[in-house]
Amino acid sequence: MARQKSAIESWHEMTQVPTSRETLTGYLPLILSAAGALGVAPFVVVRWMDGDWVVAAIDTVIVTGLVSLGVYIYYTRRVRGASIAIALLAIMGALITIYMRGVEQVYWAFPAVMACFYLLKPFEAVILALTFNVLITPVVFQNLETFTAGTVAVTIFVTTAFAFAFNFINNRQQEKLLRLATKDPLTGAGNRRALQVKLAEVIGSFERSGLPTSIIVLDLDHFKKVNDIHGHAVGDQILCEVVGIVNLRTRLNDSLFRIGGEEFVVVADGQCLGDACHLAEQLRTLVEVNELVPNSAVTISLGVAEIRGGESAQSWLSRADDALYRAKREGRNVMRKAS
Ligand code: GH3
Ligand code: MG
Ligand code: MG
Repeated sequence: MARQKSAIESWHEMTQVPTSRETLTGYLPLILSAAGALGVAPFVVVRWMDGDWVVAAIDTVIVTGLVSLGVYIYYTRRVRGASIAIALLAIMGALITIYMRGVEQVYWAFPAVMACFYLLKPFEAVILALTFNVLITPVVFQNLETFTAGTVAVTIFVTTAFAFAFNFINNRQQEKLLRLATKDPLTGAGNRRALQVKLAEVIGSFERSGLPTSIIVLDLDHFKKVNDIHGHAVGDQILCEVVGIVNLRTRLNDSLFRIGGEEFVVVADGQCLGDACHLAEQLRTLVEVNELVPNSAVTISLGVAEIRGGESAQSWLSRADDALYRAKREGRNVMRKAS
C-alpha cells in the first residue's frame, strides 16, 4: 500500500517541478499559521486589557508560536515538522482555552479540527481530533443543557468526519495526479519531468556533500525492426519487460525514467562511474539472455556518465548520450563510458 501523506506533503510533491516550486511549496501551512495568528491576536489585546493575565499569556504563546512557525516554513520550506507543530498548537490552544475560559469558547474547536486535517496525515489527524472530542465532552455536557451539549458534540464530530473524508479523497486524487504527472503510462517508469526533478536533486546533493552519482542511458537496438517483424503490441510488451528487468536488478534508490520511445535513463544514486559501468554491463547481459522474443535476441546499448563538479543536468545527460551513440557506432549490444 502507498505510504500515507498529509495534504501538505502531497502538495509539496506536486510542486517539486522547477518552475512552480518556489511559489507554491509550503503555501497552505503558511496561510493556516497566518490565519490562526490573525484570528487569535485580537483576543490577546482584549485579555490583556481585561487583566485576564493567564489566558492573555496563553494566547500570546499561541500567536507567537504560529508566527514563528510561519516564518520557519517561509525561510526553510520544511513543512512536515512545522505542520505537526501548528496542528498541536491549534488543538492544545483550543483545549486550554475551552477549559480555562469556559464552554462558550467551544467555537475554536471547528477551525482547530479542520487545521489538523490540512496539516497531518489522515489517520494522525483523526486520532488527534477524536482525542480532542473526547477531552472537551465533559466540559460541554457539564456546562450546557443536554440538548445544546448534544448538538455541539454532534456538530464537532460531523466536522471531524467530513474533514477526514475530504482529506482522504483529496489525498488519493493528489497521488493519482502525481502519478499521471510523473510516470510513463506504458511502462510505469518515471517520465522526463520526473527525471528533471531527480537530476536536480542528485546534483544538489553532489554539490552539498560530494556524493557521486552516475547515469546510465540505454536504448534498445534495432527496435524499429523488432516492431516491423513482431508488431507494435509485442514491441510495447518488450519495453515493459526491459523495464521489469532493470527494476529487478537495480537497488531501491536507483530510479528509472523513460525519456524517448525506446530510450531510458537509470539514475544510479550514490554510485561512481566504475560501479555504474558494472551495473550497466549486468543490465546489458540480462536483457540479452532473457530472450524477450522467441529465437531472436533483443539487445540494448548503454552510455554511462558520472556527474562532474559544476556540471549542469543538460551537459551530464549529453555526455552519457554521446557515450551511448559511441556504443551504437561500435556495433551495439555494448556499454561505453563517457569521456
Ligand atoms: P538503434 O539501434 O539505432 O537505436 O535503432 P532503432 O531502430 O532502435 O532506432 P530508431 O530511432 O530508428 O527507431 C526507434 C523505434 O522505436 C521506432 C519506433 O517504432 C519504436 N518505438 C518508439 N516508441 C515505441 C513504443 O512506445 N512502442 C513500440 N512498440 N515501439 C516504439
Ligand atoms: Mg533504438
Ligand atoms: Mg532511440
